[in-house]
Order: sequence, then structure tokens, then C-alpha cells
Amino acid sequence: MTNTPSLSGSHPRPGRVLLASPRGWCAGVDRAVLAVEKALEQYGPPIYVRHEIVHNKYVVQSLQKKGAVFVEQTDEVPEGAIVLFSAHGVAPTVHTEAAERRLTTIDATCPLVTKVHREAVRYAAQDYDILLIGHEGHEEVIGTTGEAPDHITLVDGPGDVAHLRVRDESKVVWLSQTTLSVDETMETVDALKTRFPNLTSPPSDDICYAAQNRQTAVKKIAENAELVIVVGSKNSSNSVRMVEVARTAGTAAAHLVDFAHEIDESWLEGVTTVGLTSGASAPDVLVDDVLQWLAERGYNDVETVTTADESITFALPHELRRKRR
Ligand code: SF4
Repeated sequence: MTNTPSLSGSHPRPGRVLLASPRGWCAGVDRAVLAVEKALEQYGPPIYVRHEIVHNKYVVQSLQKKGAVFVEQTDEVPEGAIVLFSAHGVAPTVHTEAAERRLTTIDATCPLVTKVHREAVRYAAQDYDILLIGHEGHEEVIGTTGEAPDHITLVDGPGDVAHLRVRDESKVVWLSQTTLSVDETMETVDALKTRFPNLTSPPSDDICYAAQNRQTAVKKIAENAELVIVVGSKNSSNSVRMVEVARTAGTAAAHLVDFAHEIDESWLEGVTTVGLTSGASAPDVLVDDVLQWLAERGYNDVETVTTADESITFALPHELRRKRR
């Protein structure tokens, strides 16, 4: 495998694969999956997990085999049992419900989601109207909104901006879901700034480093590939955004697949260069399967296209750290 920091000057060769880097698991997903495994190891099965720990079919099925039980609501967990909250975060009411059922909780909310929760609490305490850019119904948006439901209004794209009502136009702030498309979010922010010239911005980016880095990398490979394959699940927000970013960057076709066997051979017709990447919740073993599938069809010249180095790691949730000590 060669490492190609820049594609300028390279010539397309038949059967080439451009492999994006960074891709795949981020620090928050790594921590959440490890938290379930450690909880199973320390307490034994079953460990209940509220919502899919991360939005990936393969990961969920693997953990189910080890003894994790996935539920959608807290009242599905037997009283007194152990429940782990997913990387997407939960509203404070979920903690209250868990306490009422005497559940032992382990909170695997990604620290970068927790950061957005804290911003929401802080701006609500200062009586701001908070415009949360995100996708309606997404687990993370539900959790963040739950921190300050009376102060937060969801903005699901520039189309929502004209209909917004706020109490005081001098006290309005925007926040965002962590896994959005950077370019689309900026379009929404521009529309908000036009509507509310005194709009306050968050102190730092809410879209996380992993989503941003994966979008930059997929953009780079999409400029030079006729087909882009993103490995990830359909309910994974950041993976879906990567497919959209690839299409916008100019590739002829971009598809999201959970597994190699979902790839349709007809996608390869007339394609000499395939771009390959994976969402922040997809493990690399699934990318290896796709590489194998492509190699069997003559795409065995693999070039890694690196646009950033990542070294971020997060410590395990404190409940598991205490137990380990
Ligand atoms: Fe955290 Fe970003 Fe990974 Fe989500 S995608 S778990 S916010 S690092």
C-alpha cells in the first residue's frame, strides 16, 4: 500500500482504489464500544445499552453476541440492572428515569457531545434563545434539546430560518449537532446571520474533529474517483453526510454500504478508480472486506490518501475507571 499525501500529478490506472485516511472509528466510538466490553467483563452479562451504542449494524450485532442487550427506552431495563448510555448522549430526564428504576448507569456519551450539552446549559442559564442546527429525531439532537427544552429551537437547514421566532434578537446563539456536513452547516449559519445580525457563535466548533476530517478526506478522493464507497450504516449521520459530500465533490456515484456483499457489481461499470472510506462508527475490518471484494474484481492497486493525522483518545467513562481502580 502506498501513502499518497497529494493526488496532483498522479495518473489514473485501471483498477485503482483510493483509500481515505482518516476514516472509520473515532475516539468517541472507540471509547463507547470499549465501555460496553469492559462493563461486560467487569459485571458479566446482561449489560443493557440504551439505544444503539454507536450507529453501526456490525458493532451492535457483535456486542449482542457478547451479552449486550439493546433497548430504546429506560423502562425496558429491569429494575436494579446496569444500563449504559450510548455515545450520542441522553437528556437529563433519562438520568432521572434511571434513578427512579434504581439502575446503575454508565454514561458513554462522547465528550464532544457533552461539550455541546454544557454549552446549551450555559447559554440557557444566560437566557439566550438557542438555535440548534441538526436533524430532527436524531438521538443526539433529542439529548441536547433535553438540556434546555424551553430555550432550544431546532433548525434543520436553511429552509427553516425564515420561520424562526425568538424573544430577543440581541440574545440568540447557534449550536450544532456534532456530525453534520461542515459546508451545509455554514450555509445555515450564513442564513441565520442574515436573519439575526447579532447572532452569537459557539466558542469553538461543535462539528467534531472526526466528522470534519472524514469529510475533508472523502472530498479529496471523490475529486479523483468515478465511484465512492462509504462503509457505514444508514442511521449513521456522519456516514450519510460523507456520501453527500462525495457527491458534491464531483464523483459520478457514491454509495453507502454496511457490508461488502451489498456492493452491486454494476456500480463498477466503466470505473477505473474507486474511492473508499468509512464512517466514524464503522470498524476497519469491514473496509478490509471491501478491499478484498474489490481486489477479486481487479481493483488491487491501493493508494492511501492522507489528509490529516489523528491521535485523539478519550478515557473510559468514570464509572468504569472507578471500578477498575
Ligand atoms: Fe464523538 Fe465525533 Fe465520534 Fe460522534 S463522531 S462519537 S462526536 S468523536
